[in-house]
Amino acid sequence: MNKNKRIAIIGAGPGGLTLARILQKAGFNPVIFEGEKSATQREQGGTLDLTEDMGQKALKVAGLLEQFKEICRYEGEALKVMDKTATVLYEDGPSVNAAHTTSRPEIDRKVLRQMLLDSVNPEAIVWGHKILYASSLENGQHELHFENGATEIVDLVVGADGAFSKLRPLVSKETVEYSGISMIEINILDAKNQFPDIVELNGLGSVLALDDYKGMIAQMNGDGKIRVYLSFKAPKEWLHNNGINYENLEEAKPELLKIFEDWSPELKKYIHYANGSIFPRLIYMLPVGHKWENKKGITLLGDAAHLMSPFAGAGVNLAMLDAAELAQSIINHDDMHEAIYNYELKMLEYAGELAAETKENMDLFFEINAAEKLSEVMKSHHVEEL
Ligand SMILES: Cc1cc2nc3c(=O)[nH]c(=O)nc-3n(C[C@H](O)[C@H](O)[C@H](O)COP(=O)(O)OP(=O)(O)OC[C@H]3O[C@@H](n4cnc5c(N)ncnc54)[C@H](O)[C@@H]3O)c2cc1C
Repeated sequence: MNKNKRIAIIGAGPGGLTLARILQKAGFNPVIFEGEKSATQREQGGTLDLTEDMGQKALKVAGLLEQFKEICRYEGEALKVMDKTATVLYEDGPSVNAAHTTSRPEIDRKVLRQMLLDSVNPEAIVWGHKILYASSLENGQHELHFENGATEIVDLVVGADGAFSKLRPLVSKETVEYSGISMIEINILDAKNQFPDIVELNGLGSVLALDDYKGMIAQMNGDGKIRVYLSFKAPKEWLHNNGINYENLEEAKPELLKIFEDWSPELKKYIHYANGSIFPRLIYMLPVGHKWENKKGITLLGDAAHLMSPFAGAGVNLAMLDAAELAQSIINHDDMHEAIYNYELKMLEYAGELAAETKENMDLFFEINAAEKLSEVMKSHHVEEL
């Protein structure tokens, strides 16, 4: 019986936590090994939308959907697509379109993680255990080696350890590669109270302002902050050789404004008003359709399995869906190897399809006349939906 097996989940991100929650609910005793020392060591990032067919589906299996519905933000679904003149070419969302049928409510990543953390038996999370590598033993078990010197032998190890997974090399030769897109993240704290004009422009959801192979991707967060990803199609070296001082926002602002010199003054307010952290981000991805041969005693989920760029909002949704699929497969199969095999068969197919869609979006966002082209795509999707 799988219930007696020792299951280690590496990583307490949304994927790892969802898996632990569902398994615990079914009477299993998985252990999560997390590299960070505590739940608050790192800032948890922006807002995410959870789709009905992925993130919300997983929450339903986890018995957390009703709780999510009480705290999510339906108004956060609002979306505006603009060009560099701030002309709105496409607008959608609950307040704009009464016939809007999809449901992708937003939740701040921090709030989602806390909800998942609260749902898991705290004794099952071992903080401050950063895995360095694992080795496969002849009997299908794995020996885990942690940075702090600890070692563990387990029957199943699940790599839910994100983009730079230390478990991935055990099943695949592929490594993450730079996607061709760089981002500079800036934040407008308390925009809701301090900068009503930018809130008016932004609305309560997201803005995709795209032109000239670059973009301003802005999202209203639940705490009234607007997080802006200034995004660029650029060689990898550019992000750190462009002379921008990421240690000093005020020094960085004139450089950022120069890059967006001929963009509308309305859009440039995203930079003028920035008053929070500034952070450079290289966007990495795994090859589209990344696959591996099934192996005894080990599997991957989420970013570890199929890291993709954020341009379809799929990452967190997939990580949670993978967790639900894997948990159900473990629960419903007496043989652990068969459970992993069936999960991987299904997951690698749906993740491959979404990776291809995400790559198409990424290419579209950074084409010439991107806003116009994206708006046309959105309008045709909307007609299909109706
Ligand atoms: C700029 C940006 C914007 C994004 N926006 C969206 C969006 O709008 N919608 C969306 O769905 N997705 C978005 N994503 C993607 C999303 O954040 C990820 O896909 C999602 O968090 C993946 O979940 P995960 O559980 O697989 O991995 P992670 O969330 O990365 O969690 C991995 C966990 O493993 C831990 N860990 C890492 N290494 C080790 C180790 N060696 N030992 C032990 N523990 C380890 C980490 O500390 C972490 O807690 C965005 C990503 C980026 C970069």
